Amino acid sequence: MSLSIDLTNDQTRADIAARVSASADGEKPNLIGLDREELTALLESIGVSAKQARMRVSQIWQWIYLRGHDNFEAMSNIGKDLREKLAENFTIERPEMVEEQISNDGTRKWLFRFPSRGAGKPVEVETVYIPEQDRGTLCISSQVGCTLTCTFCHTGTQKLVRNLTAEEILMQLIVARDRLGDFPDKEAEGMGFVPEGDRKVTNIVMMGMGEPLYNFDHVKKALLIASDNEGLQLSKRRITLSTSGVVPGIIKTGDEIGCMLAISLHATNNELRDEIVPINKKYPIAELLEACRNYPGVSNARRITFEYVMLKGVNDSLNDAKELVRLLKGIPAKINLIPFNPWPGSDYECSDWDQIEKFSDFVNANGYASPIRTPRGRDILAACGQLKSESERMRIKERLAMEAMVTGHGE
Ligand code: SAH
Ligand code: SF4
Repeated sequence: MSLSIDLTNDQTRADIAARVSASADGEKPNLIGLDREELTALLESIGVSAKQARMRVSQIWQWIYLRGHDNFEAMSNIGKDLREKLAENFTIERPEMVEEQISNDGTRKWLFRFPSRGAGKPVEVETVYIPEQDRGTLCISSQVGCTLTCTFCHTGTQKLVRNLTAEEILMQLIVARDRLGDFPDKEAEGMGFVPEGDRKVTNIVMMGMGEPLYNFDHVKKALLIASDNEGLQLSKRRITLSTSGVVPGIIKTGDEIGCMLAISLHATNNELRDEIVPINKKYPIAELLEACRNYPGVSNARRITFEYVMLKGVNDSLNDAKELVRLLKGIPAKINLIPFNPWPGSDYECSDWDQIEKFSDFVNANGYASPIRTPRGRDILAACGQLKSESERMRIKERLAMEAMVTGHGE
């Protein structure tokens, strides 16, 4: 009996190893983003015994994720022969960083280039870091482009190029931590790590390009490593996944990832939401809110964030505010009011500031926290939720026009 189980395990491991190696465009597989099982399979495929593999996996994870190393040489508790073998077969290199911009308010934006992985050209992905007094939030992308077509969203005008892999999702966090000094001094001895209180990236939000629940498996894998104690050690309460409302993925997110949830609501009736968040036609408001009510782990201490973009004359009346409060009754919620960030060719305007405040005051007076998201990093056009790919970058003229628009209101 045990023989057949072993055979099955061997078979599975061989399958996993083959799958991981094959996924890398003929290049050496990158070990970042692999779960423990996949990493075990790869180690066994280069001759590490099953007995040793578990310990090696744990050591490698600590070097990669706790210490932030990008080469095998420094892994001093792994013998030289194995280190060489690892380097011959695998890599833990960072992706190419095409651009790094630092705003005068401390916001940073990075542009990464990832291999095509069969999608034609290499792809480019933006990641934004937003420092605030009590936290530092990294806004991470899950796809290049998006299949959905929310009318106020610039990403919605771009076709889906491809899903990002778990490696690529995690790399956005790892390189941000590299650049911000969130990994311990690489020269220092020992296995120390930067304690939570001293880190710059304290929170991550899946609010960059793409719909994370349409790339569930990769997002899940990346977030489980981001929150793993031997991994990047972020508390699941500091990880927020934002969805436009892919109902079947919502409960799965609570059950299988266990992170915080944000819902891009943006409208309080189906007629308007069908228009501005078209996935509403498939999963209308009542179904969406029912899934929120049943979100595993939801409580007053773990509220769901409802994002609400403020579109002048479209969804920003006091009647909308009233409806919003009515709809969310009984759901532990907070409401994040987002001033609309205009882009060239968009049909909307941002609500007037005093209207946003009135809206917020009403919602607040009815028992919901309703912070207004302050526009950040405008000098580098770094709006989270409005990231774009190089392939469809704005031309200089459009960029200048947008800058003029952007400085014209707000703050
Ligand atoms: N696809 C997911 C996550 C990415 S979008 C989702 O839709 O939730 C992240 C957030 O930014 C969403 O709430 C989205 O509606 C918002 N957003 C998109 N474009 C925006 C814009 N131009 N101005 C303000 N918020 C925007
Ligand atoms: Fe896609 Fe989110 Fe933009 Fe809608 S708001 S188009 S779901 S990225």
